[in-house]
Amino acid sequence: MKCFHCGGEMKRGKTTYTVNRKGYHLLIHEVPAWMCTQCGEVYFEGEEVDSIQEVIKSIDEKIGKLRRERVAVQ
Ligand SMILES: [Zn+2]
Repeated sequence: MKCFHCGGEMKRGKTTYTVNRKGYHLLIHEVPAWMCTQCGEVYFEGEEVDSIQEVIKSIDEKIGKLRRERVAVQ
């Protein structure tokens, strides 16, 4: 696999995935990904992207629930 960015060699490795959502920041360590040995560009495969989306969806729901409950108590 070649890097789409610079044409360098891509290697399988693990990286930290960070996401900034409304109300929280999420860091997922050691997510499998393809990384360019030349420019450091990172690509996630569909399977990993799907899993990350599921995690985010789940946290969004739980945070929404948490906020509603907090508001109800006040
Ligand atoms: Zn590259």
